[in-house]
Amino acid sequence: MKNKTQYIIIKQSPCPKCNGTGVLQHPAWKIYWDQFGEDGCRRTSEEDRIWFSERGYREIPPEEQPCFTCNGVGIIRENINLRDALKEIDGSDLWNIVDAAYDNLEAS
Ligand SMILES: [Zn+2]
Repeated sequence: MKNKTQYIIIKQSPCPKCNGTGVLQHPAWKIYWDQFGEDGCRRTSEEDRIWFSERGYREIPPEEQPCFTCNGVGIIRENINLRDALKEIDGSDLWNIVDAAYDNLEAS
């Protein structure tokens, strides 16, 4: 690379872990709903407290927790090279123009 200057842009995309919601279902609640289905809605809070305590929870945990991949923001931010960014943008004539410009720069 002749010119060490790089142009970096910020890529913001929805978090793939939580689909951009910023929250994840607590794993114990996943098991709970898999086990009880709609019947879970008819259980008493005391039955729930016992069910969770049998699994090591002193209190019933919140059903949703902040996503650990995006820290609850719902968005992933990455620094990426301008060339790579343009390659990701489908059907961009702009990419062809920039690519040609880079080729000209490297050839000169
Ligand atoms: Zn997330």
